[in-house]
Amino acid sequence: SGNLEFKSVDFSYNDGEVILKNFNLEIKAGEKVALVGPSGAGKSTICSLLPRFYDVSRGKITIDGVDVKGITQNSLRKNIGIVQQDVYLFHGSIGDNIGLGKIDATENEIERAASMANALEFINELPDGMNTLVGERGVKLSGGQKQRISIARIFLKNPKILILDEATSALDNQTEKYIQDSLAKLSEGRTTLTIAHRLTTIKNSDNIIYLDKDGIQEEGTHEELIGKKGK
Ligand code: ADP
Ligand code: ADP
Repeated sequence: SGNLEFKSVDFSYNDGEVILKNFNLEIKAGEKVALVGPSGAGKSTICSLLPRFYDVSRGKITIDGVDVKGITQNSLRKNIGIVQQDVYLFHGSIGDNIGLGKIDATENEIERAASMANALEFINELPDGMNTLVGERGVKLSGGQKQRISIARIFLKNPKILILDEATSALDNQTEKYIQDSLAKLSEGRTTLTIAHRLTTIKNSDNIIYLDKDGIQEEGTHEELIGKKGK
């Protein structure tokens, strides 16, 4: 499961400017789709409609055939994992921050999720390991470390759908590599919608959607799109 469909979707924010007009997109369960195109094209808007941060003005979005309007916020949250540039951690221990992904997670499950996210190494180097407090009264973590904690949380949550926003922050090469590795692992077997900036993501996607303000301009595999341009 994890089939997604946007059917004849129109969308405007409150100011009324039309952002999406008759937008159609089908993503099969487990498929990896990259959204590419200029800033302002509507890529993050598309991603925010799926977890219902906003509702469509017309048309519908379905998950496994069910209109998202009929799915509870709780259930949507369980089924969709979101990786964004900005990570907000609450003032608690690292373990509790990861544990947010699943109620009643065991210590072993939390450790395993941290390991999958390539986070265990830096966590074990901290004075109190998993029990280290983060936030104002605790340690200050780097952007990359926070990102890995948020990825660990998603491993634990184990959603069938992923939204990845690659808006590239200034990460050092080693951190970038760690994060790319864990994101590749995370997206295995999950339906993945990525706002793609990295060439590797674009190359490894099953379908690449190029859109601008006028909607989808091109769609296909990397080979198909490159082949076309070569002609
Ligand atoms: P992209 O992700 O491709 O850069 P966005 O989805 O962020 O594109 O933006 C598409 C359009 O929607 C832009 O014109 C942007 O200014 C507008 N927009 C984005 N978010 C909001 C918002 N919260 N309220 C009003 N307009 C918005
Ligand atoms: P979780 O409960 O796993 O943290 P959420 O669904 O609450 O996941 O949020 C996932 C991400 O989406 C968070 O990084 C949050 O900042 C972002 N987010 C939440 N609500 C909105 C919104 N209305 N618009 C844009 N982004 C949002």
